Amino acid sequence: MIKAAGVNKFFGDLHVLKDINIEVPRGQVVVVLGPSGSGKSTLCRAINRLEPINSGEIAVDGEPLPAEGKALAALRADVGMVFQSFNLFAHKSIVENVMLAPQKVRKVSSADARKTAMQLLDRVGIANQADKYPAQLSGGQQQRAAIARALAMKPKVMLFDEPTSALDPEMVQEVLDTMINLAKEGMTMLVVTHEMGFARRAAHRVVFMSDGEIVEDTQPDEFFTNPRSERAKDFLGKIL
Ligand code: ATP
Ligand code: MG
Repeated sequence: MIKAAGVNKFFGDLHVLKDINIEVPRGQVVVVLGPSGSGKSTLCRAINRLEPINSGEIAVDGEPLPAEGKALAALRADVGMVFQSFNLFAHKSIVENVMLAPQKVRKVSSADARKTAMQLLDRVGIANQADKYPAQLSGGQQQRAAIARALAMKPKVMLFDEPTSALDPEMVQEVLDTMINLAKEGMTMLVVTHEMGFARRAAHRVVFMSDGEIVEDTQPDEFFTNPRSERAKDFLGKIL
């Protein structure tokens, strides 16, 4: 579903993605781990073409990444993205936030957009918050609204970049549970997270990045109990 081959990315002289090869087959959940600055966010942004790459190929659902225009808009619509900061529109209610993109991009009617939005808010457990404004919700509720908003575009894949790292500890699990449900429903997901519990429970594979390289790409159990590289051992030693 997502396939990156030989991807290189530089910021000036800084080589931040070094010959990256990664595949996320349909229905799989791949967790990306690695120290700060290893290139995890850049990889996510490259898959969505928020960040241009210097060489290599990235394809989503067999389609090579288009550079611009309508094809790029279509690709972005197929790839849902959830960031650390929720970026909800402050002056729109929660349900309006979820309705917005389908109306604008997919030309869905207001009535249909509302109906779908309410179903999605129900699915992430915050239907009762639909008419509130973002500032009136807890961080965990806002992040679940952001997930509903991404799902409203009926994406083929979802990218998550540290979706729980800005949350108070007591809110983390409700967001992880939402993601675990999504995984169980068969969503294809690439998830950057330091939540090892999520990686153990929901990931089909763990990809460990360090200094712009993919150092390990393996089963979660294998990674946590028997990391092969010194860099992975060092990383796990610091976070576990
Ligand atoms: P973190 O765990 O802290 O989020 P990360 O693995 O997501 O880290 P990236 O944000 O992908 O790391 O950054 C990879 C490298 O690229 C870092 O050295 C970072 O400083 C650099 N970098 C990221 N964005 C830019 C940019 N817009 N311009 C220049 N350098 C950048
Ligand atoms: Mg990052």
